[in-house]
Amino acid sequence: MNSTTDKRIALISVHGDPAIEIGKEEAGGQNVYVLQVGEALSRLGWKVDMFSRKVSPDQEEIVQHNPNCRTIRLTAGPVEFVPRDNGFKYLPEFVEQLLKFQKENGIKYELVHTNYWLSSWVGMQLKQIQGSKQVHTYHSLGVVKYNTVENIPVVATKRLAVEKEVLETAERIVATSPQEQDHMRSLVSPQGYIDVIPCGTDIRRFGSVDRTAAREALGIDPEAKVILYVGRFDPRKGIETLVRAVRESKFYGSENLKLIIGGGSTPGNSDGRERDRIEGIINELGMGEFTSLPGLLSQTILPTYYAATDVCVVPSHYEPFGLVAIEAMSSGTPVIASDVGGLQFTVVPEQTGLLAPPQDVAAFSKAIDRILSDPEWARKLGEAGQRRVINKFSWDGVASQLDQLYTQLLMQPVKEPALLTK
Ligand code: UDP
Repeated sequence: MNSTTDKRIALISVHGDPAIEIGKEEAGGQNVYVLQVGEALSRLGWKVDMFSRKVSPDQEEIVQHNPNCRTIRLTAGPVEFVPRDNGFKYLPEFVEQLLKFQKENGIKYELVHTNYWLSSWVGMQLKQIQGSKQVHTYHSLGVVKYNTVENIPVVATKRLAVEKEVLETAERIVATSPQEQDHMRSLVSPQGYIDVIPCGTDIRRFGSVDRTAAREALGIDPEAKVILYVGRFDPRKGIETLVRAVRESKFYGSENLKLIIGGGSTPGNSDGRERDRIEGIINELGMGEFTSLPGLLSQTILPTYYAATDVCVVPSHYEPFGLVAIEAMSSGTPVIASDVGGLQFTVVPEQTGLLAPPQDVAAFSKAIDRILSDPEWARKLGEAGQRRVINKFSWDGVASQLDQLYTQLLMQPVKEPALLTK
């Protein structure tokens, strides 16, 4: 490292703006990850610039989170929301704008950490143009995702090629779970350097509220059996499995049952359509009386929801990591999750919760019944979950692992940028 490169990094997250409201369409785990990593790194002495695409004229160009950490919104393509599958064509302009920003501010990012495949392409350009070293986190792998969805988008071929290229060329790939690492190796490429550094959660925030106070704050009966889902409305999240599982539970029909499905949506958008579909199923199954859909839950109120809950269910068809599981665990709440991806890493079956095969209504139902029937066991699961998160998944712990990785990469000699050597 020299004085100009000393602990400076660009986190690039083209479609996952770290400064916007979380929990709506296309704003979930990635946004939380980038913001939390950025802020934690700045506490470790890094100067952190987080780049995202501006999607509304009302958005500020620069949001300063603290003196050493800011979100910078670049104009690339129309200043409006563009679904990520349509975003590739605006990336060359994004690169141009980033280079312009560097020039105007007298900065050169020796190190970039890119998030999701779109940003990985931006990182690869910066590597070619100016020799930036690249760390990449996928957040979702096309090859895994396309196995779980019905409609394969037009951009799939491009995405798969870019995901392979970045694995083979980035200085380091950060897999957030050993399961994700296995998928990269078996399904993307045997080449490239991978480290496993998990996602984290704010252990001071999640776990700060006690159950009685949380129930009082939310007006929930102390005797109620509360089942919680938190996340975006997306068919891949498997909310339908949860709803049907609750309908089959032996607690269905008991006076005290409560199902809360938290997450934001916009009418007319894909999350709005999924919410309508889920509400349709709830009504069809006669579950409206005890089910509530409170909409988007802020990160400030979420600890209260997790604390008030008997069991948090993460029924995703696939999940590369799944922040909601560790947020609930950090809050002392047992988790029932699909037996897939990162959830197999975070949830330890029979110790911090239970795993069930994805989309298996009967298995989820049985798991819910087991936990709701035995509050003493549920409490133990919750406590073990909390210990696990404190030991393994705090943002500060994650950031210090990233800090070591970045520092090591910055010390390595710089290769000539590919464009200059051609
Ligand atoms: N989230 C939120 N409010 C909501 C719904 C979700 O703040 O109403 C947050 C949630 O707390 C978590 C993130 O969005 O931090 C979702 O991340 P996860 O990895 O579980 O799923 P993704 O959205 O990445 O698929």
